[in-house]
Amino acid sequence: MTEIAEKVNCTNCGGPLKLEAGEVIVTCEYCGAALNMAVGKKYFLRHAIIPNRYSPEQVSAMARQWMGGGFLKPEDLARKAQIRELFLTFLPFFVVHVAASSKYEGVLTRTGQNIPKKGDFTREYHWKILGRRASAFPTKEYEIPLSGKVDFDLAHVSKNAKFLNAEMDEREAQTRLRQEIEEHHKFLLSSEMDVIQTIKTDLEIKNTEFVHAPAWFLKYEYKQKLYELIFDGASGVVVKGDIPAPDDTSTKGFFKKMLGG
Ligand SMILES: [Zn+2]
Repeated sequence: MTEIAEKVNCTNCGGPLKLEAGEVIVTCEYCGAALNMAVGKKYFLRHAIIPNRYSPEQVSAMARQWMGGGFLKPEDLARKAQIRELFLTFLPFFVVHVAASSKYEGVLTRTGQNIPKKGDFTREYHWKILGRRASAFPTKEYEIPLSGKVDFDLAHVSKNAKFLNAEMDEREAQTRLRQEIEEHHKFLLSSEMDVIQTIKTDLEIKNTEFVHAPAWFLKYEYKQKLYELIFDGASGVVVKGDIPAPDDTSTKGFFKKMLGG
């Protein structure tokens, strides 16, 4: 891996590109063109963005509401938690419209007999692959709000937001896609059989889009510990919500309430 920070200019407008090591698809902050650094050319996939719809104040209010409601949260959470960090990030996703066909052979053993099973099935997906290597973002749990998507335009990148470039191109994303879909299909088959002997998955890729989607990352402090909340910046849905483990006293309180005592 070379760490040399080369000076590279946008092939579309000539502006200087801000590049970080490992970034492969880079969006020019002057003209908004997405460039594939491996080939030094303008990126050919459709580049879309999902605009953010919330202000920091609204997200803080949403966090308070989340803290104050729902099951298994400490009673004083909304009152005592302090928001320590709050920022908006545009995350790069490859969204692949794909028909995935799996052929499988396996054995059902749970009945006490070995019953051979084989067959095939096809499912269609809009599968998303986050274009970053090291990320704790829960992509699987995240429903990317594609209905809000528009053609990429820098005007939709909110001021003060972080903007992440992709660290992989769509080829690598497709390799991941294949692994993830096959894992998912194995999971689907696990209800029908106990041993999967062979599985072969063919992908028919109908379309791939490069989409930047907004996520609000929030850290709050409660009893000297930090917890993370992530909100979808288009829908306001909680993508991830760390809940402090109940301490002894609040657990007692909880059971007391349950028992009506
Ligand atoms: Zn440019």
